[in-house]
Amino acid sequence: MKIVRTVSELRGIVRQARTNGSALIGLVPTMGALHDGHLSLVHAARRDCGFVIMSIFVNPKQFTEAADLEGYPRQEAADTALADAAGVDVVFAPDASELYPDGFATTVHVTGPLTQTLEAAGRGPEHFDGVATVVSKLLIAAGADAAFFGQKDAQQVLVVRRMVADLGIPTDIVACPTVRDSDGLAKSSRNVRLSGADRAQAVAIPRALEAVEAALALGETGTDALHSRATTVLTAAGITPEYVAFVDARTLLPATDIAEPVLCAIAARVGSVRLIDNTLLTLPDTIEEN
Ligand code: AMP
Repeated sequence: MKIVRTVSELRGIVRQARTNGSALIGLVPTMGALHDGHLSLVHAARRDCGFVIMSIFVNPKQFTEAADLEGYPRQEAADTALADAAGVDVVFAPDASELYPDGFATTVHVTGPLTQTLEAAGRGPEHFDGVATVVSKLLIAAGADAAFFGQKDAQQVLVVRRMVADLGIPTDIVACPTVRDSDGLAKSSRNVRLSGADRAQAVAIPRALEAVEAALALGETGTDALHSRATTVLTAAGITPEYVAFVDARTLLPATDIAEPVLCAIAARVGSVRLIDNTLLTLPDTIEEN
């Protein structure tokens, strides 16, 4: 496995891979501190593509809190070993000055509800500008046929899909299921910053999503009632959520019932760590038939 720091080195390697007949080039963009969630994206890329690139870049433009950027875990040596073992062909780990050299003056901004609700409300609208700008740069640098993202960041997937369609970037965006610890907590690079007590409390987030799914399975399709199910679980665990939202899974506009696929998304601060999670809600067949 190679590690490259510059766009021109990456382009050279990708050109070589195409010359060598690698059918498809896959890209897995990450900010490092790798866990099984990231590695599941690599496995998906390995299944679909002959050559797999992982980018590792803590993108300053998508952080809206200085302390979050500062405290973000960085462990490049461990990450490259994990990437190698998972079958990554090349890690692209640029410095910030490689992607944002002096004079850099472009922002990729996706407009509309996709970038105004949920995480944008919680973290500020600049967050998705930072995401769209860096992902467009990574997709162009890698010239990838497919790029793999986690459904854990469901809003990010929608923003990236919109951006790729609007700019005509010829990369398929593949969304992969959320990987969880055995107790249900979604894997996240930020979990290492949870104390033992915080970690136990954080499990209420997936429990709240499960409570919503269970109520829906029993025929409760109104989002107000489902919202109460989630907040009851969170409140009982001492968590005051930043949001518990029920939104159309494609537009992110508010949903009042589960007629179309609805995303139930939760953000909450546990200790000093901000966690997000979500589940996709669709009508169970038995209800749909009624
Ligand atoms: P990050 O390093 O947090 O920017 O995440 C890089 C990619 O991994 C993003 O596409 C995330 O959605 C994805 N990801 C993060 N956590 C998980 C998880 N628990 N399961 C699946 N994908 C994940």
